[in-house]
Amino acid sequence: MRIKAFTRRGALGLLGGASSAALIGCGPRGDRGARDAEVIVIGAGLSGLNAAMILADQGMDVLVLEASSRIGGRMKTLDALPGRPEAGGQQVGAGYGRVRGRAADAGLTFEDFPPNRFGEVLAIGDTLIPAAEWASHPLNALPEPLKPIPPGRLFFSLAARANPFQDVYAWMDEAAGVHDVPAHSWMAGRGANEEALRLMNVSLNGRDLASYSMINVFRSLALYTLERSMGPSQAITGGSQRLPEAMAESLARPVRTGANVAAIEADGAGAQVRLAGGETLRADFVISTLPFPVMRQIGVEAPLSALQREAVEAMAYTPIVQLHLEAETPFWEADGLAPEMWTDSPLERVFAGRAADGTPTGMLTCWLDGMGGLSASTMSDGELEALAQAELARLRPASGGRVRLAHAQRWTPYNALAGGAYMHYQPGQAPAWGGQLATPAGRLHLAGEHLGVLHTGMEAAMESGENAALAVLDAAAPYPGRAQ
Ligand SMILES: Cc1cc2nc3c(=O)[nH]c(=O)nc-3n(C[C@H](O)[C@H](O)[C@H](O)COP(=O)(O)OP(=O)(O)OC[C@H]3O[C@@H](n4cnc5c(N)ncnc54)[C@H](O)[C@@H]3O)c2cc1C
Repeated sequence: MRIKAFTRRGALGLLGGASSAALIGCGPRGDRGARDAEVIVIGAGLSGLNAAMILADQGMDVLVLEASSRIGGRMKTLDALPGRPEAGGQQVGAGYGRVRGRAADAGLTFEDFPPNRFGEVLAIGDTLIPAAEWASHPLNALPEPLKPIPPGRLFFSLAARANPFQDVYAWMDEAAGVHDVPAHSWMAGRGANEEALRLMNVSLNGRDLASYSMINVFRSLALYTLERSMGPSQAITGGSQRLPEAMAESLARPVRTGANVAAIEADGAGAQVRLAGGETLRADFVISTLPFPVMRQIGVEAPLSALQREAVEAMAYTPIVQLHLEAETPFWEADGLAPEMWTDSPLERVFAGRAADGTPTGMLTCWLDGMGGLSASTMSDGELEALAQAELARLRPASGGRVRLAHAQRWTPYNALAGGAYMHYQPGQAPAWGGQLATPAGRLHLAGEHLGVLHTGMEAAMESGENAALAVLDAAAPYPGRAQ
C-alpha cells in the first residue's frame, strides 16, 4: 500500500503542496521558531552518526532519530555471547580512512583477526573433503582448469583474471557499460560449467548470479585490490559496535532511540518527519540514511529525481541469515577435521569463533546468503535451530547435532529496519545510477552505505554521511536562521 502511494506520488513529481500536507498534517514551510532541530538525521548507523558529528562540529543543532533501542544499525556485536561474535560489519579495510579516523578520535584500537590454524573442510553432498584434497577429489566436477580452485573462491578467481577496472573510479566510466552483464552468463562464457555455477551461487554476496551485475563484481575487486595493497583488514577491539556507540556518545544532543520514522516530507524550504506514534518533528534539513528497502515502506513526499525514485523501488540488497550456534562439544577434536566448513548444504558456510591465539571459542556461525538466506528468512528460531542440529548431525556425525541456537540474525527483506545486508547492482542499474542518487531533494538529503561512490560497506556509509553533511552545510550557509 505504502509502496503504491509512494510510486504514485513520485510519478506526479511531488513538490510538497496539498498532497504533502495531507501526508503529515502541515507543510514544511512554517514558523522557523517551531523547529525541533536545524537538521534531523534519520538512522544512528555509521552514516547518520558521521553526518551528525560533522554538522554538530560546525555548530549546527542536530537531532538523530533511531527506530531501534540500539545504536549502530548494521554494526552489531553480540556482546552476550562467548567471543562476542559480530552479526554485522566486521572487517575494517586498511584504507578505511574515515572509519579509522573516527575510531582513533574515540580512543578505539584495531586488532588483527586471529589466525585460522585449522583450515577448512568442504562438504559436498554427504561427503566431507579436506580442502587440500579438493583438486583431485572424485566429487570435484569442475572443468579441468578450475578444479584446483576451492568452491568458495571460484567466483572471484574467475572474475579477477579478467577485471577490466584498473581503479575504483572505473565502474562509473561510460566505457564500463559493456560490463553490465549478468554474472551467470559472464561466468558461463568464461568456462564455468553447471557445477561451477551451482557452487558459485552458494556463497554469493548477492541474491543469485543471474541478478548480479559484473560491474558490481569488478568494482568490488578493484576495491579489494586497493585495500589489500595497503594492508590487511582488521577488527575493532572490543567489537564493531563500539565505534557507532562512541560516535553517538560524542554528540552533545543525545540520539533519540525508539523513534521510528514513518514519513518524511521536504521541499525547498524545510523538512519534517512523522514518527510512528504520530509525533511530527520539524527541521530545516533532513538527512535520511534509511536503506532503500526501508525507505520504500515509508511515506516520502519530496522532489526526488526519477532516478532516485526508481532506485528506492528497485535497489537490490543481499539477503543474509546468520545462525550463531554454541557447540556443546568440540566435535572437531573428535573427528580431527577443521571446525570451519564450506558446504553446499542449507547451512552454507560455517565459521568458527576464534580467540586471539586462534583457539576455537566453541561458537559457530552459519552464514547463509543469497537464495539460501532468502529461504531461511521466513523460518522461526526453533526451525532454524532444528535445521542446524539436523544438518550438523548429518555432516559432522561427531557433533551428534548437539548445538544450541544462541542468536539468529536476519538481514533479509523482512528486517523492517534494514531490508537486507548491503546493496548490490543488478544488470541495468550501475551505469544509470552510479554517483547520481545522492542529489538533494529539496531539503531532504540522502546518505547510507548504498550511496557510497568510492567505497563499499562501512567506509561507504561514512563517505555518504560526510557528503550529505557537506551538502547541508553548503545549502545552510546563506540561511540567516542557522546557528553561528
Ligand atoms: C552481515 C554483514 C556483514 C558486513 N560486513 C562488513 C565488513 O566486513 N566490512 C564492511 O566494510 N562492511 C560490512 N558490512 C556493511 C556495513 O556494516 C554497513 O555498510 C554499514 O554499517 C551501514 O551503515 P549505514 O549507516 O549506511 O546503515 P545502517 O547501519 O543500517 O543505519 C541505518 C539506521 O537506520 C535505522 N532505521 C531504520 N529504519 C528506521 C526508521 N523507520 N526510523 C528511524 N530509524 C530507522 C536502523 O535501525 C539503523 O540503525 C556488513 C554488513 C552486514 C549486514
